[in-house]
Amino acid sequence: MAVLKAYLESLSYTVELFDLNAHFFHMLKEYRPSWQRRDAVFEQDLFDKMICDYPEEMERIIAHINNSSARYAGFSLFNRNLYFSIELINKIVSSKQIIVGGPEVFYGSFGNFQNIHCLLTRNIEFFVIGEGESTLADILQGKAATVSTCIEVESLDNLPFYDFSDLFVPSEGVVLPLLASRGCIAHCAFCAERLLSKRYRQHSVGYMIGQIRHLMQMHRTSTFSFQDSLWNGNLSWCEEFCDAVISEGLAIHWDCQMLIRSGMDVAFFKKMKRAGCFNIFFGLESGSDTVLRLMKKPFRADEAGRVFTSAYQAGLHYEASLIIGYPGEGEQEFMETCSFLRHNRSVIKKIAQINPYIKLAPIRPNQPTEDPVRTQKRIRAILELLDSEGIRYTNAFINNLVDHSDELLALYE
Ligand code: SF4
Repeated sequence: MAVLKAYLESLSYTVELFDLNAHFFHMLKEYRPSWQRRDAVFEQDLFDKMICDYPEEMERIIAHINNSSARYAGFSLFNRNLYFSIELINKIVSSKQIIVGGPEVFYGSFGNFQNIHCLLTRNIEFFVIGEGESTLADILQGKAATVSTCIEVESLDNLPFYDFSDLFVPSEGVVLPLLASRGCIAHCAFCAERLLSKRYRQHSVGYMIGQIRHLMQMHRTSTFSFQDSLWNGNLSWCEEFCDAVISEGLAIHWDCQMLIRSGMDVAFFKKMKRAGCFNIFFGLESGSDTVLRLMKKPFRADEAGRVFTSAYQAGLHYEASLIIGYPGEGEQEFMETCSFLRHNRSVIKKIAQINPYIKLAPIRPNQPTEDPVRTQKRIRAILELLDSEGIRYTNAFINNLVDHSDELLALYE
């Protein structure tokens, strides 16, 4: 949203930005456990809960939007804010034109937005599918249709620098998001994120250094988190970025998500460390070559072991994710994942996530389906193995993608 705001301001439009997720998360300390647990029932009921428990705050927010002089009100819809956002949209006066975008609109477009329309009591004037820049400009110039698919930004360096000056006051130590690229070079079969962009594009290193300096100046922070789908789509770019940070003496700290691939040796990871990298998230997902192939992951398990060893020898902290119960993961493949973890226990710093496979696309004929109960047994077995091998894991991100409603949990008892 901050990127879109900066873009529209560069075209001389006035934009006011709210992050209601951040606002409520900081305000509602008592709700945080449900929020962090990814509680589907809590998320569905949040709007009504807020109206009931904090009527004045909700009235203030709704009145602020309705009484503003803005002609348009835009909402970024994603899985976790969908219900709240729709209820809020239903409260917006009809004199404002509503624009919705974000991942839920993109995924909803496959099903003709039925999941969104059935919840609405108010008309939505514009649906933006994909990247928002060009379509938002068209809407404001009266040139866009109700449903518009974006034209992807050709040169990311043409976008102005963004900041978060609308959202919070400068404070030491805040972690700010960076985006050095859009899209992904891989095509993992389970990944919904890769669908969001058709082509992989990057900012130049010079642009990123300028963007980082801008954020450091605006927000007095030196800690960043790259939110790219993957940071290492282009290994030469990675080296060039680290060289620039080191040679310019930029004292920053950052983390990123990386694809396991060849060409990343100890020297590569040492350079990342010198440039301020403090953590890497690797999408490992499985230790079985059969499952990796079914997932269309562009690496094999032995490559993952080599990459972990190099990062370990460079003294970097990193974590890896696992997906359990992927269709085609039989008992033998599951045991291969267990063997991989045992064999590499000394170079696996931490398992960051253990999630069951969750199918987003409709089941095709003859497509194997996952068995949720068997998957949960395997997740428990993995946890026992991690405990016995002394491999650390993040408790909050185990099963964090499943519905935590009582009915579903009862299935696993
Ligand atoms: S590497 Fe990551 S972002 Fe890219 S397709 Fe695979 S899972 Fe998705």
